[in-house]
Amino acid sequence: MAANMDENMKKVFEALKANHFDPVEFVEDAEAAKNKILELIPDGTNLGIAGSTTVSQIDGLREELIKRGSKGPDASMLGERTLEDLMRIPHDMILTSSNAVTMDGKLVNVDGTGNRVSSMIFGPEKVVLIIGRNKIVRDVHEAIKRIKSVIAPFHARALQHDTPCAKTGICADCKSTERVCNVTTIIDKKPTYTDIAIVLVNEDLGLGWDPDWEEDRREKIGSVYLAQVQRLIDDFNPPEE
Ligand code: SF4
Repeated sequence: MAANMDENMKKVFEALKANHFDPVEFVEDAEAAKNKILELIPDGTNLGIAGSTTVSQIDGLREELIKRGSKGPDASMLGERTLEDLMRIPHDMILTSSNAVTMDGKLVNVDGTGNRVSSMIFGPEKVVLIIGRNKIVRDVHEAIKRIKSVIAPFHARALQHDTPCAKTGICADCKSTERVCNVTTIIDKKPTYTDIAIVLVNEDLGLGWDPDWEEDRREKIGSVYLAQVQRLIDDFNPPEE
């Protein structure tokens, strides 16, 4: 175990291993995470990258995976297909993140479409999750609270969804057809037929913070997230010539 893990990270690391996620790795930063992920994903893998700004935040990872022959969906595969078509393509392996990880090693996620959370549970043989230190929460209750009070409103606003939280920042348990949190999953332990590898990163990655954290840290997480969302939107909607 790395000496520079703080107490919370150590607890999460051990709890994830006890819950049969394997391997569980700890790395110091995004660059080390990239190298570890490239070790975990064999060349030429039929790989799906399921809606994750964490993955997009790791410089050069997507490009390196494509160079090595991974066949993950990206804008170049669209052709006559819609983004929804791409989401339905089966994959042997999925690379994504988790909205939250609890101190006792549970993975908590909320999805609008469900493609990301379903593929984490059954379908692909292997799942690789990159989880930044900012995703650690005390327990499932805190995970859901953070998702509904921070992650979903911020995400809905970034994507300009017509939901109450996008306007007010507060969840109204809405009935909007553009609701971003239709499916909630709690992965208590490794699902029977799916291997889940986890790379814990000692850096803030992806969306999620505790409202009590200092403003600078929260703002940095938010602005990096917004930049990545914009990049993904631009990739899939290139300006007309
Ligand atoms: S239920 Fe509706 S209002 Fe609440 S967080 Fe989800 S999308 Fe926003």
